[in-house]
Amino acid sequence: MPLTCFDALNYIKTPVWLISPVSEHILFANTAATDVMRNKTVNEMRTGIYSANAQSALSMYVPDLKTDQEIIEIWTVWRNEQESTLTCRLTLTQCEPHGDVIIFEGIAQQTTSGLKASRSATYQRKKQGFYARFFLTNSAPMLLIDPARDGLIVDANLAALNFYGYQHDELCNKHTWEINTLGRDIMPVMTEIASLPGGHKPLNFVHRLADGSTRHVQTYAGPIEIYGDKLMLCIIHDITEQKRLEQELEHAALRDSMTGLLNRRQFYIITEQTNPAHLPAQEQFSLLLVDTDHFKNINDVFGHLKGDEVLISLSRTLEACSRKDDFVFRWGGEEFVILLPRTSLDAAMQVAETIRAAVAHITIPGLPRFTVSIGVARHNQGESIDDLFKRVDDALYRAKNNGRNKVLAA
Ligand code: GH3
Ligand code: MG
Ligand code: MG
Repeated sequence: MPLTCFDALNYIKTPVWLISPVSEHILFANTAATDVMRNKTVNEMRTGIYSANAQSALSMYVPDLKTDQEIIEIWTVWRNEQESTLTCRLTLTQCEPHGDVIIFEGIAQQTTSGLKASRSATYQRKKQGFYARFFLTNSAPMLLIDPARDGLIVDANLAALNFYGYQHDELCNKHTWEINTLGRDIMPVMTEIASLPGGHKPLNFVHRLADGSTRHVQTYAGPIEIYGDKLMLCIIHDITEQKRLEQELEHAALRDSMTGLLNRRQFYIITEQTNPAHLPAQEQFSLLLVDTDHFKNINDVFGHLKGDEVLISLSRTLEACSRKDDFVFRWGGEEFVILLPRTSLDAAMQVAETIRAAVAHITIPGLPRFTVSIGVARHNQGESIDDLFKRVDDALYRAKNNGRNKVLAA
């Protein structure tokens, strides 16, 4: 489906975004969506004060969306001149030339009246029957929360007491906002969740335990009526270890293991998603190709390990000399690429010169000074990445032939 098919969505009041799960760039936002996002980025809406989601990377949703699982996220947007919650339902579609695209559809909440008031002023726990069997003896930590009383925890099972490290009376005098690191900001999120029918994928939060430590948790929350009281049942799953492994894997997939810089694959993902051939003139980026001079000599004379030390030290210098929005890649071996978004050739030449001079001053014990040669090119409108590389490679070649430790423009 081409993106222009979505133009009709500008006539409806529901905010709708089309977002690439790989680049996390907005491919389309209808008028209602533009109104509520103002200048916020996708990341800011997904991680704002009232935000809750199950995955940090959008691409992780794709397998579940392919099997039609109900997935929602709560975003922080602007409404009535203030920040507010917006529940988004996610669906997957295909859009050429982007492939998989996630549609985020803002759900207008109907009413929260069903959950507004719990019947009794104080919740009466009954130890018999189905509730006792289901709730109290369950090995998953569970909390019963009364949204009508400021998110008071009205009951907690044994597994929850063990997990949080509180006595029953202590935990049941607390409010959700006292254990959630979002603090008071969790309340609008909870109201939003309380008015959903339940059955959606769980949302992730960070909860604080009695000893002050924090854990990443995935919470399944939904409305529940127990003995006439309209409450929320919250099942807590500790995902701290899973989060740590995920971050490690993410890091490994994105980065070169020795230098910690972005890998070559990431360069193609970033440039493919921004579709450089269609960039407007003011968005044109520049590229630096940095090659270590006579690196083979360093290896031959001082050994491969010392060579590695040079590459690591050089990587830190490249990062230190590049600007906040620049991307630094290990291109392979002793070659590096720096992508400078929205940067003129002159400005790119200055960054390159700063790098060249800084590298010439690096000192590593037991090693002589070393230098780099740098080719610089600004992406021309409509130019392919291959053609851009031919030019920047040629500039680097000339820098080498001009005696090395040089910066030359294409
Ligand atoms: P020039 O100034 O022309 O660039 O000369 P050079 O010696 O730097 O270039 P050449 O391409 O001949 O040598 C690059 C060397 O980099 C060869 C290869 O063994 C070494 N190399 C590639 N990757 C690594 C690495 O990860 N660690 C170490 N220590 N050496 C590496
Ligand atoms: Mg080389
Ligand atoms: Mg070299």
